[in-house]
Amino acid sequence: MAELIEAPTTGLVTDVIEFSAVDGPGNRFVVFLQGCNFDCLACHNPYTIKACIDCGICIEACAAGALSLDAEAKMVWDQAACTGTDGCIAACPYDSTPKARPQAVASLLPQIRRAAPFISGVTVSGGEATQQSGFVRALFAAVKAEFVNLTCFVDSNGAAEPSVWQELDEVMDAAMIDLKCLDDEIHRRITGASNAQVLASIKALAARGKLYEVRLLLMVGVNDSDELLAATGRWLAAIDPKMRIKVIGYRAHGVRPSPVPLIEPDAAQRAHYAEVLAAEGQFDLVVI
Ligand code: SF4
Ligand code: SF4
Repeated sequence: MAELIEAPTTGLVTDVIEFSAVDGPGNRFVVFLQGCNFDCLACHNPYTIKACIDCGICIEACAAGALSLDAEAKMVWDQAACTGTDGCIAACPYDSTPKARPQAVASLLPQIRRAAPFISGVTVSGGEATQQSGFVRALFAAVKAEFVNLTCFVDSNGAAEPSVWQELDEVMDAAMIDLKCLDDEIHRRITGASNAQVLASIKALAARGKLYEVRLLLMVGVNDSDELLAATGRWLAAIDPKMRIKVIGYRAHGVRPSPVPLIEPDAAQRAHYAEVLAAEGQFDLVVI
């Protein structure tokens, strides 16, 4: 199970949540995909960043005996035996999980059918959803073909080629894009990559009416200066002064030990972020 799956109707899926109120508008069915092109200091799901390399290190960490290597030395996760303690994830030194598995669109549809009367749509998240854009397209096409009332959203770090958004355009209602930092040097420091594609994605999606919201994850003393936030507000307002912006205060839960101290903003600091942004546009601001 080591490689990311190329076949468009099969994806490397980390997890599925049948009902989520925090992954887009309304109640949503969420598919988390394994693999990411960023390596964020503040990643809350660091075990989704890389594909499993079948090293076997996590086997001993599983007291339930749910992990083994098969005859071809590939990691096997016995879902029925798993007790969900996630000791394997804690033991993995490679930002991965033995629980990610190839899943076909056809195998997700029965779950979506069961949830359909209670949800507004389907969101694909990650990891980075656009890294498996062929699978996302196939899943959304299948959802659109069967459920006229369900919307299809992507939750993305925005680091995708224009061709990826074009590939998804027909079947994706909108995307939620993380802007980790407007300043490219800081962006590189906190994600390991440039923000050039992210900025281009935000512009392109907004121009096509496909941008649901921009998410700003703010860490005290890292990417939360008034000057930077005001510049971010001005940049976003030039694209759409009424843009929906979600201000998210960094939370340490689940994050790997960091070489630089990462500090959670308190409620007053989060409210201040919103004030600084609000001075630059008539944004639809959500603060969490
Ligand atoms: S983009 Fe998201 S999944 Fe990827 S490393 Fe950053 S926070 Fe984690
Ligand atoms: S999940 Fe991590 S520790 Fe376990 S086999 Fe895969 S790479 Fe190794």
